[in-house]
Amino acid sequence: MSALPVTPPKALTAYRPFWAKRFGPAPFLPMSRAEMEQLGWDSCDIIIVTGDAYVDHPSFGMAVIGRTLEAQGFRVGIIAQPDWNSADAFKALGRPNLFFGVAAGNMDSMINRYTADRKIRSDDAYTPGGEGGKRPDRATLVYTQRCQEAFKDVPIVIGGIEASLRRIAHYDYWQDKVRRSVLVDSKADLLVYGNAERAIVEIAHRLARREPVQSLTDIRGTAFMRRDDDPSAEGWFELDSTEVDRPGRIDELISPYQIIDDKACASNDEPDAPKPITLHKTGRISMPPRERTVVRLPAYEQVKSDPVLYAHANRVLHLETNPGNARALVQRHGDRDLWINPPPIPLTTPEMDHVFDLPYARAPHPSYADENGSHDGATKIPAWEMIRFSVNIMRGCFGGCTFCSITEHEGRIIQSRSEDSVIREIEEMRDKVKGFTGIVSDLGGPTANMYRIGCKSPEIEAACRKPSCVYPGICPNLNTDHGPLIKMYRRARALPGVKKILIGSGLRYDLAVQSPEYVKELVTHHVGGYLKIAPEHTEQGPLSKMMKPGIGTYDRFKQMFEAASAAAGKKQYLIPYFIAAHPGTSDEDMMNLAVWLKRNGFRADQVQTFYPSPMATATAMYHSGRNPLKGISRDESRGEKVDIVRGERRRRLHKAFLRYHDANNWPLLREALKAMGRADLIGNGKHHLIPSYQPLTDGGYESARRKNSTPSKPAAKAPAKTAGRAATPRPGQVLTQHTGLPPRVTGSGRGGAGRPGKPAKR
Ligand code: SF4
Repeated sequence: MSALPVTPPKALTAYRPFWAKRFGPAPFLPMSRAEMEQLGWDSCDIIIVTGDAYVDHPSFGMAVIGRTLEAQGFRVGIIAQPDWNSADAFKALGRPNLFFGVAAGNMDSMINRYTADRKIRSDDAYTPGGEGGKRPDRATLVYTQRCQEAFKDVPIVIGGIEASLRRIAHYDYWQDKVRRSVLVDSKADLLVYGNAERAIVEIAHRLARREPVQSLTDIRGTAFMRRDDDPSAEGWFELDSTEVDRPGRIDELISPYQIIDDKACASNDEPDAPKPITLHKTGRISMPPRERTVVRLPAYEQVKSDPVLYAHANRVLHLETNPGNARALVQRHGDRDLWINPPPIPLTTPEMDHVFDLPYARAPHPSYADENGSHDGATKIPAWEMIRFSVNIMRGCFGGCTFCSITEHEGRIIQSRSEDSVIREIEEMRDKVKGFTGIVSDLGGPTANMYRIGCKSPEIEAACRKPSCVYPGICPNLNTDHGPLIKMYRRARALPGVKKILIGSGLRYDLAVQSPEYVKELVTHHVGGYLKIAPEHTEQGPLSKMMKPGIGTYDRFKQMFEAASAAAGKKQYLIPYFIAAHPGTSDEDMMNLAVWLKRNGFRADQVQTFYPSPMATATAMYHSGRNPLKGISRDESRGEKVDIVRGERRRRLHKAFLRYHDANNWPLLREALKAMGRADLIGNGKHHLIPSYQPLTDGGYESARRKNSTPSKPAAKAPAKTAGRAATPRPGQVLTQHTGLPPRVTGSGRGGAGRPGKPAKR
């Protein structure tokens, strides 16, 4: 395997600014005509339509893209959470001179609006007051349609996580069917996927130069519908991967579990000039140049009705995600070709600094303020509250967990900011953000401890086809030095006015154990009473489908955590998170997990059930019953079948095992344990999982997330005997995941153990 001879991209800061740069940066990007007039603008060059409330902060997509375009000289307006019942709201800022940028928001609109059990949520963390119902289902489609109605001839570029993860034909859990690419359904002109700064800046400048949007077919990180008469389609080699089990190959298939040897990764055996595919006597195939090769996936019409081909398409897509060697993909939809260019080249550190150093107001738009002019009252935006005192230090994740979409979206190569840039942001937060108490609630990113970590060699990294750098073990080529992160922590907590730096992002603990110094530093200075980590399971069956490390690594980390806590004289707790009903999880696996939880004294208050999100490998398992990690075949003896937890009853049972301590679940568990031949776990002894008696129960359990989704019931009064225990756990006392622990110190001055909605690292 050799790397694509990737042309270094044009730096974000190397473009000649658009003429409107003279207006300078806006205090907030305008959301109304009146604000545009105040800024002296007669029109917007670009209008971003988003499903989230506009928060001018680098954790919000519309702010990052808006400010990045503004820095290029474009006048950018924001239409946030418009009324989608007519096109009126989409005309509020007038006709954009260049294009509409449409995004559903920071989350897929269906995940935002529905629970893992497909029940509608009544809340929305990205809306003032947490109010639900401010965005439509499949917001990208609806907004695009309304933009077209508002201004028929204005180009539309869709992006954000919803468009990104629905860029090819994808299984849609809510409709339980395979849907077309969102580009096809929306009829937008272009789709940008992943972190889109490079692509959107290039698109804006080329449209500003009056290039027709149809000619923008060569930009990385974009997808478009290829016209039959498109001259730029000339000179491409097409590799047909529309079937499985055919003689030949689309690539040298590398097992995700294989350790890649340096030489093999770094070798470059491909010809410089385009050549047809040649079959040598040995059977070896000489491949055409990767940068002019496109892999044809099975058509939408094929994957729609054939789960085997769906799983195959998913596998091929995931093999083509490393910007160093990914090839273009093409997928037929009806009589048209959807073309997906290779992923964007990661931003360099100076470019990351550029993006994060832009003049964000670090606050919600003033139009959301309450009657006191504040964002802390009834109009508080929960998602902003969560990140208000936190700093994002990097992007990307090389973990490759199959149920998570970060790798598909942000990529596997870590993009880190410089230490100086992070420190500047903390100082700015300290000096400017109202309510800052000296506590930084997080210095993190998709994973807390991947800052500046990556492959030892750029050449090997560019050639690598593995889906994870840490599964099934830490790759020997991975540089696991946590030194730069430790150095940054030390510098940050020494800043005047900073009392405490917490690490709220999820930790990759199998990586952390490689650096005892890091664990010591973290545990001694940066844990606010407890640390959430996510082993996700204890059993090898589901763990291997998730690409997560074995529970032994958790035990190792736990030992280090407890030793470091004791040495620091601190009582701190580790809170493991688990996932129910993941593909590959048998009922026995869940039972074993429940026994482990009981043995270790954990009682899960909040249960995570597997949520099949678009494009994830685990979702392909869910839909097809096959494991794309192992290769896909129609031959029953090849590949791997996966046990899928379907149906309400079985999902309920898996959740019930996680909450084995909830008496409401005992009748279901008793029945299941008896059917599994494990009635020995029913009884009233310490070694039993559930008792044989049935107390009177309130009939239901309400998870922390569900509390946000349905009107909360009044909390049951705690028995006097246990009421006082919650705040002062003793060693050996049974701990729950979200209650029963000392309040965590947070940047917002809130007590309580939970940070609702903040995802634990998986
Ligand atoms: S460290 Fe990651 S990128 Fe490098 S060879 Fe290993 S798996 Fe591939």
